[in-house]
Amino acid sequence: MAAPDRETWGPGQPDQPVPPGRPALICEDGAVTLDAPVGGPPIFDANADDVRFPVLDQATLAELAEFGTVRELAAGEVLYRSGAEVWDLFVVLSGEFQVVRDDDSQEVIVSYTAGQFIGELGLLTGQRTYLTARVVRAGRALVIPHDSFRRLMATKPAISDIVFAALIARREALRTSAAANAVRIIGSRFSPEAMALRTFASRNRLAHIWIDLEDADDVEVLLASMGLRPTDTPVVVTPNAVLRHPTAGEFASLLGLTYRPIPGRIFDLVVVGVGPAGLAASVYGASEGLDTVSLDAIGPGGQAGASSRIENYAGFPNGISGGDLTARTAIQAQRLGAWLVSPCPVSGLRLEDGFHVVTLTDQSEIPCRSVIIATGARYRRLDVANLELFEGNGIFYAATELESRSCAGCDVVVVGGGNSAGQAAIFLSQAGCRVSVVVRRPDLTATMSSYLIDRIAADDHIEVVTETEVRALEGDGHLEKVTLEHNPTRVRRTLDCTAAFCFIGAVPATSWLGGTVALDARGFVLTDRMLDRAMTDPVFAGREPLPFETSAPGVFAVGDVRSGSMKRVASAVGEGSSAVRVIHEYLSRYA
Ligand SMILES: Cc1cc2nc3c(=O)[nH]c(=O)nc-3n(C[C@H](O)[C@H](O)[C@H](O)COP(=O)(O)OP(=O)(O)OC[C@H]3O[C@@H](n4cnc5c(N)ncnc54)[C@H](O)[C@@H]3O)c2cc1C
Repeated sequence: MAAPDRETWGPGQPDQPVPPGRPALICEDGAVTLDAPVGGPPIFDANADDVRFPVLDQATLAELAEFGTVRELAAGEVLYRSGAEVWDLFVVLSGEFQVVRDDDSQEVIVSYTAGQFIGELGLLTGQRTYLTARVVRAGRALVIPHDSFRRLMATKPAISDIVFAALIARREALRTSAAANAVRIIGSRFSPEAMALRTFASRNRLAHIWIDLEDADDVEVLLASMGLRPTDTPVVVTPNAVLRHPTAGEFASLLGLTYRPIPGRIFDLVVVGVGPAGLAASVYGASEGLDTVSLDAIGPGGQAGASSRIENYAGFPNGISGGDLTARTAIQAQRLGAWLVSPCPVSGLRLEDGFHVVTLTDQSEIPCRSVIIATGARYRRLDVANLELFEGNGIFYAATELESRSCAGCDVVVVGGGNSAGQAAIFLSQAGCRVSVVVRRPDLTATMSSYLIDRIAADDHIEVVTETEVRALEGDGHLEKVTLEHNPTRVRRTLDCTAAFCFIGAVPATSWLGGTVALDARGFVLTDRMLDRAMTDPVFAGREPLPFETSAPGVFAVGDVRSGSMKRVASAVGEGSSAVRVIHEYLSRYA
């Protein structure tokens, strides 16, 4: 890879100065970069040795010919503009083609010549492009339309591997370079609205830049240059649109990532919830030929996406961040043909004319032949008076790179004594925070794995505060102080605290089911052998429920949401995968 010829500092060098008068732009990986200069050489040198920019040989080009048609292109012609839906793969046969940021900068991202192809991961995810592709030297391109591209990816494994590796690597390169300037989220680090946009962008691994209003004096100048004021924030700015105070759904809609009803289409499988269980179901559903759509209220990842490091997932001896694990699986599912949609909260489920109908909060309806419930669980909220004032701007339910950036080097509180709390405490300490772990029990032994207890004990920056609960939160616009009460003595003390991370037990995300399937006393979904005959659909008078099947025939539940499940990433993945095998049986015998 050619090093970007601009000032870029990695996240491990927090003390690098940002020159006065220029706003700090934070790439999603935490790298600090300055806005790109106008024009200049391409950011990336499309070197044939680089996995991102392969040059296909003549034999491969000949194999590709049957998938597309050749187009003659004149210098200056535009292949596609930012904001367009791009489903076609363009393979350059001759001439030179540039990908540029189509805004004031007109910055050239990369230049392609014969044997190379244009595009990035959006070709698989359906994301509208935020870059423009144009012809600089007249030539010819093989244009492979979307359906043929899918057929190509499914039937030519050797070519598919080269293309896929390049698409993934290009997205990573775009996310962590000045190219990400094409999509800007501008707002305050203390704004919950901004946090929701950043979470959506981060979960979906979107190339984007975060511009923090708190970081530089002259952000107002930047905003004014776009006709905006600080009161308009958070804003999302792309080369072709400006969204003031958008929701994550509106942002997704701008990028073409929302659910678009397709009249007459009946899916074989709708997966509700795209955490580890739903992701595994998506991978197996799509790979085993089921027409699969997977919907998540926030974005792919689930609780695992909230974990900085998972150490007990087989195959990753050094651990892996939950975000990386689930992002890889999401791409895998999409490569295999699953349609992943977020943010897409599901509000209901019913049976109609023999089909299941999944309802979204915008009242869209998705008919399907089977459903997997994989909505997992979410962490309980603290029982304190003004909690909602600080949720998203000091109170967090995840401890990843994203949240840690708003409190690096500060005093923080982690509430809870389970493994999630332990992982969070260690991660935050490594991010330079002084951490108070607040637990109700006299110690951690009953609730936390010993390897985490040992690490916490050895860490000078972590204090465990036992038999204690959070009683009050204070702050002017964002969290500044937390009051703790020692239960046996009722003694209270107030700590300076920029952020409190809550991991105090999970509740199942089943309220959307509205009684359509039987739940246990705690609200988890009952399946197969756990079902009492009296609870089940009359259908089950004639047959036993299949493994993972709920009280409603053809509706299955997997992962943390399922009563009696193990509440771990590996078990969620195992259940999601296994359920697809059972769905095949259901569809062939009973649907
Ligand atoms: C901080 C943290 C650290 C952890 N560390 C580990 C670890 O090291 N090892 C380990 O094995 N486990 C760990 N866990 C537990 C593990 O992450 C969970 O067991 C696992 O994620 C469960 O997967 P799931 O797919 O069943 O549900 P979830 O991960 O809970 O995913 C459910 C998904 O459903 C979506 N959803 C909910 N309601 C709706 C709706 N109405 N419409 C649409 N979508 C909806 C949510 O947005 C979410 O994305 C950790 C959990 C946390 C929070």
